[in-house]
Amino acid sequence: MKKELKIYLASPRGFCAGVKRAIEIVEKSISKFGAPVYVRHEIVHNKQVVEELKEKGAIFVDELSDVDDASRPVIFSAHGVPKSVPEEAKLKNLSFVDATCPLVSKVHRESEQLNKNGFEILLIGHKNHPEVIGTMGQLPKGSIKLIETKNDAELLKENDFKKPLAYITQTTLSVDDTAEIIEALKNKFPKIKGPIKEDICYATTNRQSAVKEIASKCDMFFVVGSRNSIENSQTIGRSSGASAPEKLVQTLLKSLRKNRNVSIEEVIVAEEKVVFKLPKELN
Ligand code: SF4
Repeated sequence: MKKELKIYLASPRGFCAGVKRAIEIVEKSISKFGAPVYVRHEIVHNKQVVEELKEKGAIFVDELSDVDDASRPVIFSAHGVPKSVPEEAKLKNLSFVDATCPLVSKVHRESEQLNKNGFEILLIGHKNHPEVIGTMGQLPKGSIKLIETKNDAELLKENDFKKPLAYITQTTLSVDDTAEIIEALKNKFPKIKGPIKEDICYATTNRQSAVKEIASKCDMFFVVGSRNSIENSQTIGRSSGASAPEKLVQTLLKSLRKNRNVSIEEVIVAEEKVVFKLPKELN
């Protein structure tokens, strides 16, 4: 007889509006302009999505210098790009479609506005993440200082800064870790200015809340992409990141059902109805 296995399925999970839009941009570009189209960097961080788009006619490149056929359009990924990238595309006469998530673009505009208003800017984020590279590249080099940890914040000194201070954040961060870093910044610089509406996006916040809601009830927690054994567990939690397709979740559930008597409870912490418009080039 199969052993019982209770699964809590986190909701929301999987694709966010920015990822759906980015994938649609690649697909619509292929149908409008024909294959191939170039895509600079992984359009979203998911191998399966990238492979499926390759089969449909997308060619992924690291840099614009890797584009062999300048007559084909180039798509910029959902993570956003430094200003130098569209500038380079224009110089090379490449046509391009920008799939930057509108919530990342919001952070880009914030950085420009803060700079214009005379603030020194701290960006809370992960070094070398494409979104961070894109956000830092909205302003001349050295205009934005990266803060990765609470310790980084605590090491800052008041006389490091000549102008008023503001912070912005990457859209995809741990809500709790970021709150700690912001608290450390506020302790040190009580007048520091933060975004009017926080930069960590709704999708990141909702997925983390859903995971927190169920993690304490589970013997084991799966986020699509991680590998674990479930042989001895009686209760497991399931979720998937904002760039993971739902079919991966369903495939895993199917394989669990082979050996276990599975019951599923979906734990819904928020309803997501966010949809972003496509860029005008594709309308
Ligand atoms: S995770 Fe958030 S910021 Fe990133 S693409 Fe999705 S909605 Fe946009």
